[in-house]
Amino acid sequence: MLTKVGIFFSNPGAKFSPASSASATHFQVSYGMSSRLIYNIRQLVNARMESHLLRGAELNSLPCIDNAWIFIEGDQIADFGPMSELPADLLDRITRSRQNAWGSGTGDTVIDAAGQFVLPAWCDSHTHLVFAGSREEEFVDKIRGLSYAEINARGGGILNSARKLGAASEDSLFNEAWKRLEELRRLGTGAIEIKSGYGLTVEGELKMLRVIKKLKERSSVSIKASFLGAHTYPSEYKDDHAGYIDKIINEMLPVIARERLADYIDVFCEKGFFDAAETETICRAGMSYGLKPKIHANQLNLSGGVQVGVKLGAISVDHLETMDEDTIAVLKNSNTIGTLLPTAAFFLRMPFQPARLLIDAGCAIALASDFNPGSSPSGNMNLVVAMSCIQMKMLPEEAINAATLNGAYAMELGDSLGSLTPGKRANLLFTRPIPSLAYLPYAFGSDLIDKVMIGGEFV
Ligand SMILES: [Zn+2]
Repeated sequence: MLTKVGIFFSNPGAKFSPASSASATHFQVSYGMSSRLIYNIRQLVNARMESHLLRGAELNSLPCIDNAWIFIEGDQIADFGPMSELPADLLDRITRSRQNAWGSGTGDTVIDAAGQFVLPAWCDSHTHLVFAGSREEEFVDKIRGLSYAEINARGGGILNSARKLGAASEDSLFNEAWKRLEELRRLGTGAIEIKSGYGLTVEGELKMLRVIKKLKERSSVSIKASFLGAHTYPSEYKDDHAGYIDKIINEMLPVIARERLADYIDVFCEKGFFDAAETETICRAGMSYGLKPKIHANQLNLSGGVQVGVKLGAISVDHLETMDEDTIAVLKNSNTIGTLLPTAAFFLRMPFQPARLLIDAGCAIALASDFNPGSSPSGNMNLVVAMSCIQMKMLPEEAINAATLNGAYAMELGDSLGSLTPGKRANLLFTRPIPSLAYLPYAFGSDLIDKVMIGGEFV
């Protein structure tokens, strides 16, 4: 539903005249960069002159401008405001674009977004996007009534993915992951964190991290990599946990650090996997190489993962299906973000994360997809946002903030992504014409994303 009404021919001598409004006085034309003026926007969502991590009640505050324009220079947001305060030079662009119609120009465009809502692109701060093959056979086994333990005994679960990954070439892994990433880009994801953790051998983990590195180099989506060698124990280390942890610390980490393959260290802190003390040991080893912790915590049990994460200054503790008052109190008094993964709880038919308790306590909350072949075979952030409202009683404003701005902070990208803020990267979602913002999570099954812009370019 985007209507490109014309091409603006830039005048090399032009300078923007100061606008009458305070919100539109701080930019000038930078020559040599293409620009885009989007106007008549029904509502510009999460438009902030500055941004910070949102906690508790702040999550409910989503600044929006009705009947708005936004101006993009190169790959960055330059300015925005209401149509009633459109600077004269920008108004002139619209007028001229209507008169000039089409022609060869500088690539500068003027876009009429009548009826559309424009939001920052989603920031998905927790995924396992790189994997070899899907696991729908386990999905059917579960429907037939097999337990998680029985599926594991049949060779299912994470070890199933590890076996498939071991057999896959780096190229085929990359090609599969690229297709998934392209699909997510069209669904509105502009930044994503991707974990290793299906290798569970030195070669396997390195292979995954090299694939993530290649995705980083080739995609316009901003990508962060987490090393999750401590996802589970490979079968040969079933009875030798210390031996596998030693391998992670002394064989995997030094190579990963040398080749700069990861930004974060992650551990699956859970009963039967890595306990709190082991999690701390592995995280501290990662931290000695400059990798900050992002931890899988409290999915199935009160694992102590939140406490370890907060103690180590983790960027985030993720999952949090199982929380008690003490654990919430620890999280709310920290700078660590609680990342909630509702589609994983949905797919596993587990109780959802207690988002309301966490927000009301004053925690900083992000939403992510946990995209992985076993427990969340979807990276669709539109669905994540809808599910957080439907099942976790987050308000649409809270969900959108958690899936954009706080998601960006959960990848340390809050200064450059997650809100429509001058100087930030121009990652924008354009909805189809919808009656209100709440319609997005309400009509959860509809495809409501019309266009996606990443770094100033339409996908
Ligand atoms: Zn995960």
